[in-house]
Amino acid sequence: MGQMIFDQLKAKGEIVQSSPLYDQLRPIADAITRAAQSRYNHPFKFYLVHEPQPNAFAAPGGNVYVVDSLVYFVKNNDELTGTLCHEVSHTIHHDTVTLMEKEIRIAEREIGAAILLGAGFREMVAITLLGKLHSLSYSREDESRADLTGSDVCAAAGYNPWGLVWLFQDFQNADMGDVPQLLSDHPNNQNRVNALERHFRQNPAAFGKFSPDPKSATRISVPKNSAEVFLH
Ligand SMILES: [Zn+2]
Repeated sequence: MGQMIFDQLKAKGEIVQSSPLYDQLRPIADAITRAAQSRYNHPFKFYLVHEPQPNAFAAPGGNVYVVDSLVYFVKNNDELTGTLCHEVSHTIHHDTVTLMEKEIRIAEREIGAAILLGAGFREMVAITLLGKLHSLSYSREDESRADLTGSDVCAAAGYNPWGLVWLFQDFQNADMGDVPQLLSDHPNNQNRVNALERHFRQNPAAFGKFSPDPKSATRISVPKNSAEVFLH
């Protein structure tokens, strides 16, 4: 499934092969991998993709796709890291593959007739999956669990786990037009913030050293309109 999604993104010319934005992404990706790789049996790989909507999404098999505009949207590295830790946690919990298997069963019923007409089944499933990947609706329980595991991963990776809380707050304050689908799909942000804060209080050994003040974070500096070379 993960390979099909990669092939589709590549065919659409969305995967960024080289860009100065990788200089921002790589240290974060390396730190998350060091902290979380032992919890998943395929290597995590992080790819920048070019899409209009700031977003990040995890695919089965360990690939994490980071939309370039998300790197511009976040205010600091901890917000970016929080998002990626959250997505990696969906992978650790096998949330994505579970949801996709469900979607495939639905798709198989929907496109059953098309298969009889001889259309390429594999390609059709991949197209269906890619469409779903952006709008997967995880359950509230899956989201909360990914938040908490994500905060554990962030803290272990040495990034401030309050970053995800700050990001939720940024979205609450943002013009709705700017809210990435990533979080507009995930309602009840205040409940998720409360759950994270409770988790931090209950685990002072892991979280006590991190400041809840976003002013303590280093603002991210990325060259605007970085040139991108796409994978073909
Ligand atoms: Zn999620």
